[in-house]
Amino acid sequence: MKKVAFVLTLVFACFCFVGCAGLYDYKQDLTSYDMDILYDDTNHTLTVSQTTDYVNTSDIALSCVKFHLYANAFREGAKAKVVSVQNSSMAYPNGQSYGEIDIESVTVNDGEANFEVGGEDENILTVELSSELYPDDKVMISMSYVVTLANINHRLGYGENAINLCNFYPIACMYEDGDFVCDLYNSNGDPFYSDVADYDVTITYPNNFELASTGNQSTKAFDLVKESNVTARCVRDFAMVLSQNFQTKSKTYDDRVTINYYYYDDENADDTLKLIEEVMTFFEQNVGKYPYSQISVVETNFVHGGMEYPNIVLISDAVTDYETYELVIVHELLHQWWYGVVGNNEFDYGWIDEGLTEFCTVYFFEKHPQYNRSMDEMIASATQSYKTFARVYSSVQGSVDTSMNRPLDEFSTEPEYVYNTYVKGTLMFSTIYDLVGEKSFLKALKYYYEHNLYAIATPTDVISCFSHGSGKNLEGVFTSFLEGKVVIK
Ligand SMILES: [Zn+2]
Repeated sequence: MKKVAFVLTLVFACFCFVGCAGLYDYKQDLTSYDMDILYDDTNHTLTVSQTTDYVNTSDIALSCVKFHLYANAFREGAKAKVVSVQNSSMAYPNGQSYGEIDIESVTVNDGEANFEVGGEDENILTVELSSELYPDDKVMISMSYVVTLANINHRLGYGENAINLCNFYPIACMYEDGDFVCDLYNSNGDPFYSDVADYDVTITYPNNFELASTGNQSTKAFDLVKESNVTARCVRDFAMVLSQNFQTKSKTYDDRVTINYYYYDDENADDTLKLIEEVMTFFEQNVGKYPYSQISVVETNFVHGGMEYPNIVLISDAVTDYETYELVIVHELLHQWWYGVVGNNEFDYGWIDEGLTEFCTVYFFEKHPQYNRSMDEMIASATQSYKTFARVYSSVQGSVDTSMNRPLDEFSTEPEYVYNTYVKGTLMFSTIYDLVGEKSFLKALKYYYEHNLYAIATPTDVISCFSHGSGKNLEGVFTSFLEGKVVIK
């Protein structure tokens, strides 16, 4: 995600997997989601039949499977708020509004199943299995549900210009250390953590809408409706945006990747398309291939600057300054590498994807002088703003927690999260860049990417990959930043 509410000079704020025998092989059997969706634009609801072929990737037998119900974070009475107080009026321009997900029925291998909507905040669906599911075995879990959308400029909701359909469906919780990971929604950061999976989605919607999405679409138009079939392989999540206002520009590079730009208010749309191609090709050369055949950049109503999903990024129409719009696009596209292909627990270690994405954004601009942003200027600005944050927080609160390795719910305020994750993350990778030099830094980036394709990178993986890839032991540098011991001068 990109937050722009705290902008100084530096703005703060995931194929066609070219076949499982394609660009990068992925041999493991993946969980797959098959969805049949009807979007009702009068009632702002999604009526969904979903079949999940769930693969047990843990090393123990499971007696149940748990799914996140992120859509329930938008319901009345939710404990976890979807936006901070400061961002509430921008998120809800027409006043408070609520949505929810109502699970109607669940079957396991075609037999009726016991299920429960619970967790700390009605955020978890637990499906009891009729028999234990052994490691590497698969079970078919089918469910029917209705998602009601709130009128909110957020990841899930309808706004004036577009309908954002992200995190709308029950997605399997990761299983780690003997339990499912069931973290609550959080208005800070991106409170998500998921494994790569395959998707086959059919959505029916009024025929005056255009659809932007993860994956590859084929669409049929009828008198009143359109029906799109969308397939995506080996992606970390699945997201869509519908709008009646979209104009589109498309371009294919290397005969391999098609860029789709959906917008409704961009007088520089040709320049934007060019920027998207520059970002994609630059990071393919400098980090590693983008292993899918489609990337969509989508202008939409969104409370923050932007938001990343596999093969699709959301860019807020509230970012009216074009230079900031460019910055948000570069940041969100970089998440295709850092979050999308190389995953991490975004709830526990936001700095892994946000810090690296933010520094790579700085590197992009340094190497593209036509955009008039140098690395020196951006790093000086980040340094200055971080020092201001630390000074203000120290004087107001008496002390400031500058550690980075904290889960989202341990940051006391949104600025504390933003400065320690985005800004300090930028400064940490910038320090490493200066220490090892450009050539070794790029080697480390490539090494980190290649060794974590489609996997989950932990802090230990980041430190060891950057050390190994650059040829320098960087553990001390990383830990001094992560533990808040380094003094930013
Ligand atoms: Zn981000």
